[in-house]
Amino acid sequence: DSEVDRYTASTPRSAELQAEAERYLPGGSSRGTAYFAPYPFFVERADGHHVVDVDGNRYLDFMLNATTYVLGHSNDRVVEAVREQAANGLSYSTPHESQVRLAQALCERVPSVEKVRFTNSGTEGTLNAIRAARAYTGRHKIAKIEGGYHGNHEYVSVSVYAPLDALDPEEPTSVAEWPGQPPSVVEDVITLHYNDIESTERILRENAAELSCVIIEPVLSNFGYLPADGEYLARLRELTTELGLIFIFDEVQSFRLSQGGAQEQMGVIPDMTTFGKVIGGGMPVGAWGGRADLMDLFDPTDGPVVSHAGTFNANPMTMVAGLATLDQLTPEVYERMNALGDILRAKLRAVFDELDVAVQVTGIGSLFGIHFTEERIVDHRSVLRADRAMQQKLFTGYSMRAS
Ligand code: PLP
Repeated sequence: DSEVDRYTASTPRSAELQAEAERYLPGGSSRGTAYFAPYPFFVERADGHHVVDVDGNRYLDFMLNATTYVLGHSNDRVVEAVREQAANGLSYSTPHESQVRLAQALCERVPSVEKVRFTNSGTEGTLNAIRAARAYTGRHKIAKIEGGYHGNHEYVSVSVYAPLDALDPEEPTSVAEWPGQPPSVVEDVITLHYNDIESTERILRENAAELSCVIIEPVLSNFGYLPADGEYLARLRELTTELGLIFIFDEVQSFRLSQGGAQEQMGVIPDMTTFGKVIGGGMPVGAWGGRADLMDLFDPTDGPVVSHAGTFNANPMTMVAGLATLDQLTPEVYERMNALGDILRAKLRAVFDELDVAVQVTGIGSLFGIHFTEERIVDHRSVLRADRAMQQKLFTGYSMRAS
């Protein structure tokens, strides 16, 4: 159709690179999320809030590497910190002060975090937080929200993108994400309906004897950054305490909402929190932190109860980029960013109203999502019922108009 024709006409070099890429990389890339038909554009460079592709088209970048570049691309102070560190060595076998400073910043800013450990991706952050919960409670099952994404390891890859026809119409359903996952994942990962406290409470009580934790994004990214109901979160906090479950907030994305993350804004304090993206200033990063008694399971000085190893954990390149970023994220900056997000959502709604297109614009602060449906978005299933073909059209069409 015309959007695709215009796109291919203006991106010939990307088409060539994609064809070449497909010879060496399955599907032409090591990452899936930025793929869109007929092929993604290849970036040549980025600056501020723009990316420029290999054909010279300039785009306004609303993705910013999946919400990572909270200060835009190639922020001066981040680039300077990375340049300076690179000249002094990229990483070492013993600690560097930058790790202490970034840990200090997170402990001071985030209400739930008394101690923290760094790793290289959000995936490793959630993996280790769950590992800690299992070790602490001696129980192996976990509970997550149907439709929630917490990275790419086996124990969170349950009912993330499961289609409607794979789901029990009445009950939250655990479905493995790909063939060959051990059958135990669907037994060991219990799913919950977002914002539905009655079924959540019933399922947690039924499984409490085997459950170690509940992991949830307080602002659920896969639902278009839909904030959890305050009452739902508060009740989950009470229930997890009553049942002896570790309550984990995945703030890999929502940490861009305030200095203390979504937990500070919503006034619900989990036992552990996972991080990624923003805290590494654009370098590969992940972290998890929380109550000292939980985090001390990883204390290596006495021989850890739970192991967490990794060649590049807390590497100084990431730590200095993260520090240079957090230093600039003052309360005033968050206030401005969040206000701009409010304006963006209001204007998007006005544009779609004017065009008489049924949409739900979801989100909070600088995070937003668009769903082509008349139905209010409340959970995984309402997201799945929206019109995906329209979304694809918007994506390709938008790329063209911005260029
Ligand atoms: N958790 C959430 C909420 C995420 O959005 C992501 C990544 O998009 C992750 C975990 C995994 O982080 P990473 O891609 O760094 O492994």
